[in-house]
Amino acid sequence: MGVQLRRKFTTRTRWRNETANQGTDPLRIYDPSGSDSLDELVRIVRRAEKERCTVRAVGSGHSWSDVTLTGGFLVKTHGLNRVLDVGAEPLREGVDKRHLVYTEAGIRLRELNRALDQNNLALSNMGGYDAQTVAGVISTSTHGSGLDFGPIADSIRSLDVVGSGGTVYRIEPDRGPTDRGAYEARHPERKLVQDDRWFNAAVVGMGCMGIVYAAIVTVERKYWLKEVRTLSTWSQVKPGLLAGDVPRHKRHYELLFNPYRRNGDNRCLVTTREKVPQPSGAGWAETHRNLLPEIAGSVPFITGRVLDFLAGLRPSWTPGMLDWTLNAIADDEYTDIGYRVLNIGTANLLPAYSAEIGVPIDGRHVEAVERIIEIAERHRRLGSIYHTSPISLRFVKASPAFMSMMHGRDTMMIELIQMTHTEGGFELLGEYEEALYALGGRPHWGQVNTLTGSHGFVESMYPRYRDWQDVHGKLNASGVFNSPFSKRVGIMASRFVP
Ligand SMILES: Cc1cc2nc3c(=O)[nH]c(=O)nc-3n(C[C@H](O)[C@H](O)[C@H](O)COP(=O)(O)OP(=O)(O)OC[C@H]3O[C@@H](n4cnc5c(N)ncnc54)[C@H](O)[C@@H]3O)c2cc1C
Repeated sequence: MGVQLRRKFTTRTRWRNETANQGTDPLRIYDPSGSDSLDELVRIVRRAEKERCTVRAVGSGHSWSDVTLTGGFLVKTHGLNRVLDVGAEPLREGVDKRHLVYTEAGIRLRELNRALDQNNLALSNMGGYDAQTVAGVISTSTHGSGLDFGPIADSIRSLDVVGSGGTVYRIEPDRGPTDRGAYEARHPERKLVQDDRWFNAAVVGMGCMGIVYAAIVTVERKYWLKEVRTLSTWSQVKPGLLAGDVPRHKRHYELLFNPYRRNGDNRCLVTTREKVPQPSGAGWAETHRNLLPEIAGSVPFITGRVLDFLAGLRPSWTPGMLDWTLNAIADDEYTDIGYRVLNIGTANLLPAYSAEIGVPIDGRHVEAVERIIEIAERHRRLGSIYHTSPISLRFVKASPAFMSMMHGRDTMMIELIQMTHTEGGFELLGEYEEALYALGGRPHWGQVNTLTGSHGFVESMYPRYRDWQDVHGKLNASGVFNSPFSKRVGIMASRFVP
């Protein structure tokens, strides 16, 4: 009955993000696909400007923050999923096309990985999941772990973007791969911008820099990784982190820790991944991740709900449950094709939400962990509020992208996941956030955060903010890519120049 009534009286189609913690009623929803899709994007932007409303592209809706919301037109991009022919692009002579892929930007990483695999190629790195789109991950500076790698945005060489006025831009660094003469002859109506400042501004654009239609991405030969997950404690890993060099010893290095001290210390799980030769006749045990949690997690509805339910029902069991979880996922034998190992698997399906904050690796990163332990303990003691998931520490190389959380500094990303029904979960995330901002923290744009435009806060976090705004003022000259998010964080372009 309720559903019928809603059908009858609802005139707008609701859009929700994947975890359904964000929703919006856009004026219209578009779903371009096929060979006409770039022209369709141009028409959508022009129509929005004509109607004096806004437009926002969304990828897979895997952001927990409000970064996808719009009160105007919403453009779904999963139809932009073709891998295009890089060989047919007008590139400079000498550019090594064998390690470049040209793809529409709404393709999910998992589809791209499969296409690359078939050609013996692979992304050099990715985050722990593969359901996001190419444009989605670059727009929020999504990252994996390993100090040889910046965020995924740093593997982009060229972006095709529909900006304000419906202008199609190709934006690249100074020495971008495209040959200007050949490009301009082929596309006289488009604009080729080869300029580091433009590129570093546009690439992490949070949907404010136009609609990304396609990208040229650097890839490498297909490779295999061996993952090892070893139990440890905070007091054992801390000296190596303080020295700053331990995360550099392996291609990929990351940590999970229990914020609650049990038996005098905080349990940690150290994960490392190294390239290995393709296993020949690999044994069954070596090519599967620890089966216990994978089997349990393969029924995510049941397992996830049970964990979520226990966190809500018996919060005081949380510290013990977190130790149990870390014990259960320790594993010393998992070898597979790189992208399968980088995807952390069924943990992505848990009913959860998350905040993630990047702090510089300069000593403040260790202080940050100790502040988190202190805050978690204080909230447990005073308000029976618990942190209901292990906390993750990942290490990312400094990025040139102006609005990347890793801009200008090697960064430790602290991911603060909470099970959906955690009582006081957002309250705890808010406390961490404040403490970590005081240590130079910057919030992940796609994850829960409460940053606002007050006190010039965003500008104080990002030294090249003015440059970003300068380019933003051109790509978003009419304000057509403004959104509730850009308004909240105070980065909105002035709206609709008459
Ligand atoms: C289960 C899970 C695991 C995750 N793992 C990681 C991780 O390991 N590392 C990490 O850093 N983050 C991680 N995240 C966060 C996630 O990667 C980011 O929020 C990412 O931006 C989501 O990509 P999406 O394709 O879903 O984009 P959306 O969430 O749909 O959009 C994100 C932003 O990109 C913009 N956008 C999307 N498409 C376009 C386009 N074509 N043109 C212009 N703008 C566009 C949107 O407007 C929005 O501002 C995870 C999230 C989830 C839910």
